[in-house]
Amino acid sequence: MAEGTGRAKTICLVDVNAMFASCAAIAEPSLAGQPLAVAIDPSDRRSIVLTASYEARARGVRTAMPLGQALLACPDLAVVPPDHELYRRTQEAMGALIERFTPLVEWVSIDEAFFDLDGCPILVKGAWAACAEIRGTIGRELGLPVSIGISTTRFLAKMASHLAKKDPSGVFWLHPKDVPQELHPLPIEAFHGIGPKTAERLQAFSILTIGQMAAAPPHQLVSLIGQAGSTFQAELRGEGPSAVRQATRPAKSISHELTFAQDIASQEGLRPILLALSDQVASRLRRSGLAGRQVSLTVRDRFFSSHDRQLTAKQPVCLTEDIFRQVLSLLARFPESVFPCRLAGVSVSGLAPIEEPPATLFDAPGQARRALAETLDQIRGRFGEDSMLWASTLGSAGQELYDATRHGSSFRTGALAARSDQRQKGRPPRPK
Ligand SMILES: [Mg+2]
Repeated sequence: MAEGTGRAKTICLVDVNAMFASCAAIAEPSLAGQPLAVAIDPSDRRSIVLTASYEARARGVRTAMPLGQALLACPDLAVVPPDHELYRRTQEAMGALIERFTPLVEWVSIDEAFFDLDGCPILVKGAWAACAEIRGTIGRELGLPVSIGISTTRFLAKMASHLAKKDPSGVFWLHPKDVPQELHPLPIEAFHGIGPKTAERLQAFSILTIGQMAAAPPHQLVSLIGQAGSTFQAELRGEGPSAVRQATRPAKSISHELTFAQDIASQEGLRPILLALSDQVASRLRRSGLAGRQVSLTVRDRFFSSHDRQLTAKQPVCLTEDIFRQVLSLLARFPESVFPCRLAGVSVSGLAPIEEPPATLFDAPGQARRALAETLDQIRGRFGEDSMLWASTLGSAGQELYDATRHGSSFRTGALAARSDQRQKGRPPRPK
C-alpha cells in the first residue's frame, strides 16, 4: 500500500540486462550475439571482467573474474573497454523514452530506474501490458534488452525485476499476496539488501531462505541483525516505501573557488590551495553520487582577468587525488604572468552517476581508495570538516576552506558550496 493513502501503487523497476555488454553490441553490431566481456584494459589479462554478455556467461565467464581466467573458459571471448560516455547517452535516451509514459522516473544507478505508473493513461491496459509495451519500445527504438519488475513498493519491484530476468517475457508483476509463493523459497542471499556478512549470520542460525526469515520471531531476528530485521520482515509484507522521487536534473558541474586574503605569488604557493579546492569538489561529488571527466582550473590575476584551462580525464573522477593530479597538469599550462593571482577555482563537469564496481570486486582498481575517501567523508560528517585535513593544505590559504567558523560546514549544509559558487569578481579580499 502507498504510505498514507491506503491505495496500492504501481511501482516499476526497469533494469538493463548486462548494460555495458549490451551497449557495446549496439555500438558495434558485429559483437551482437557473441560472447563479449567489458574490462578496463582488454590487453591486460589481469584486468577484471566488469560485465559479461549472456552468451559469455553461458560459457562460464563471470563478473569480477580476471580476464586471463575468462579467456581460458571462453577463448573466443571478445573484450572491449568500458565507454562511460556511451552508457550516459544510453541512459539519457532510455530516460526520455520512459518519460513518454510517465513523468515519475528515478534513476538509482547507470542502468536501473524506478518509475511510477499511477494515474498514467497507459495503465488502463493493466500494469503488466503497460510494462510489456514500455519494454518493447525500449527494445525496438534503442535495441536495449531490459527487464521490468512491477509491484506495490520499491523493494518488491526490485525483487520482481530479478524474477523478470528469468521470465521469457522480461516483465514480472509480483503481487504482495504472491510473495510467499515467489520469494519465500529463494535463498536468503537473494533478498535485496542482504549482503554476504548478514547472510552468513542468518545462515549460522539456520535461516537459509527468505521464507524462514519471514517466519522468524521478530525479536530473534532483531537480536541477530539489528533493526534491519524488522524492516526486512515489513518489506516482505509489502509495507516498505513506495515513493518514486522525480528526477532532479543533475548538476552540470560542481565547483569551488577561493579569493585569497593576500595574492599568491607562485605555482608553488598555489598548490596546497588547489589541493584543498580539489578535496572540496571531490567530497561534494561523492555526496551527490557523481563523477565527472571534464576538469577545469580558473586562475584570476591581480588585474581581475580570469584564465581557464580544461582537460578531459580518461576516467570519470570523484577522488581528491585524481582531481588534484589533473589540476596540477592544468596548472603547468598557465603562463607565469598570471602570478601573483587573487583567486583560483576548480570545477568538474561532464557529470554522471558514480559507477559501482561489482560487490565482490574487492581488488578493483580504485575501490580501496574510494572506500578510504568515503570513510573520510563519514568522519568529517560526524566530527566536522576540519577533523581530517590533507597535511600539505595546513598553514596554506586553502586551510581556510575547511574552517567551519568562517564558512559554516559545507559538509553538512552546503553553505560553503553556495558561497564559493557565487561570483566573487571585484569583491575585496576577505580580511584575515
Ligand atoms: Mg542491469
